[in-house]
Amino acid sequence: MIRLTVPSLDEEDFQAVRAVLESGYLVQGPRAAEFESKIAQIAGTQHAIAVNNCTCALHLALLALDVRPGDICVVTGYSWISTANAIELCGAQPVFVDIDPQTYNISPQRLDETLARLMGNAVTANRVKAILPVHVFGQMADMDAIATLGQHWNIPVIEDAACALGATWNSKPAGSIGVMGCFSFHPRKSVTTGEGGAITTNNPDIAQKLRALRNHGLDPESPTPDFVMPGYNYRMTEFQAALGCSQLKKLERITLARKKAASRYDALLKGTAIQSPQVMEMADHVYQSYVCTLPWEFSGSRTAIIRQAHEQGIELQIGTIDMGSTSYFRSRYGISPAELPVTDRVAKNSLTLPLYEGLEESDQQRIIEFLMHATMANT
Ligand SMILES: *Cc1c(COP(=O)(O)O)cnc(C)c1O
Repeated sequence: MIRLTVPSLDEEDFQAVRAVLESGYLVQGPRAAEFESKIAQIAGTQHAIAVNNCTCALHLALLALDVRPGDICVVTGYSWISTANAIELCGAQPVFVDIDPQTYNISPQRLDETLARLMGNAVTANRVKAILPVHVFGQMADMDAIATLGQHWNIPVIEDAACALGATWNSKPAGSIGVMGCFSFHPRKSVTTGEGGAITTNNPDIAQKLRALRNHGLDPESPTPDFVMPGYNYRMTEFQAALGCSQLKKLERITLARKKAASRYDALLKGTAIQSPQVMEMADHVYQSYVCTLPWEFSGSRTAIIRQAHEQGIELQIGTIDMGSTSYFRSRYGISPAELPVTDRVAKNSLTLPLYEGLEESDQQRIIEFLMHATMANT
C-alpha cells in the first residue's frame, strides 16, 4: 500500500523517547521547555507554549483573548473541523468566509466584505473577537492583507498554522504575524509527537495566561502554588517533547524532501486536466499535504476514485472540510452552500495524494497513471 503519509521516524527519535522513559520523569520536566524554545526559534517569536494538540492550542488561544458565549470569530470556511469547533466550544459563533480559488486559503476580499458587514452593524460590531485564517496544506494565507484588515478594525488575528511549521509569507514565518499562532504535531503533519501542539506569541501577558490555562490555572510566577483562573490540563508529556526536539532537528531535511516530491507531482500533472497546487510568489509552501483538484465533472465520482485507488494499493483522501456544510454547523446556523461557493466547489473536487519523505518517484508515477486511467474510466 502506498500510504497517504508515513512519519519520518528513526533510531535517534526512538532513543530520545527511551531516554525520557528511563529517566522516570515523564511530565513537567526540561524537554517540554526545550521543545518550546525550538518552536519559538522556528516561528521567530518570543514565546511558545507546548500543549497536547492543536485543537487545545486553538481553544486556549481563543480563551486567552477572552472569547465568550455570544461572541463572533471570523474564520475561513475550508479547514479541518477543529478550527470551527474550538470557536463553537467557547460558546462563540464562527462566521465562515469563502476562500481564494487559487490557494484555497481565506480570501482577503471576502474577509474585507464580511468584516465591513459585521462591523457596520451595531448588533454584531462589538461581538467580533478574533479573525482565524488557516494556512491550508502548508501554504500561508495572505497575511499582509489579513493583518492590515485586523489592524483596521482592531481585531486580533489567530493563525491556525497547524500545517505550516517553517512556512513563510513575504519572508515572515508562520505563527509570527498574528497575535498567536497554533501548531500541530499530529502524525499527518511534517514533524510529529504523536499528538501534540504549540502556541506561539510575542505578547508576554498572553504567554503568561496561556501557561496558566494549560496547567490548571497555576500562576507560573508564584513561588508557592497559587491558582489565578480555572485552567485545563493541556500539557505535553516529556517523552512527546523529547520526540519533538529530535524531530525538529530534521525539519529542514523533511521539508526539502516534501518539496521535491511535490515538484515531481507538479511535473507529472503538467498538461493534464488535473490542477496541481498553486503557490503564490510571496509564499514558501511547506506541503503538509499535496492537494490537487479534479476537473469539476469528476466531483461526483471522487468517492469511487478514492475506493478504486485503495483497491489498487494507493491511499488517497479528500482535501479538507467545508466546515459550514457539516451537519452540525449547517443546522445550527442555517448556512447554505451558495454563501461560500468556492469552498463548496473545492471541497467537492480536491484530492490529497500520498506525500512523505521516503516516497519513491516510481510510486508517484504509478499514482498519476492511476489517476489518468480513473478519470478516463469514470467519465
Ligand atoms: C491538524 C489540524 C488541526 C488539529 O490539530 P490536532 O493536533 O490534531 O488537534 C487544526 N487545524 C488544522 C488546519 C489542521 O490541519
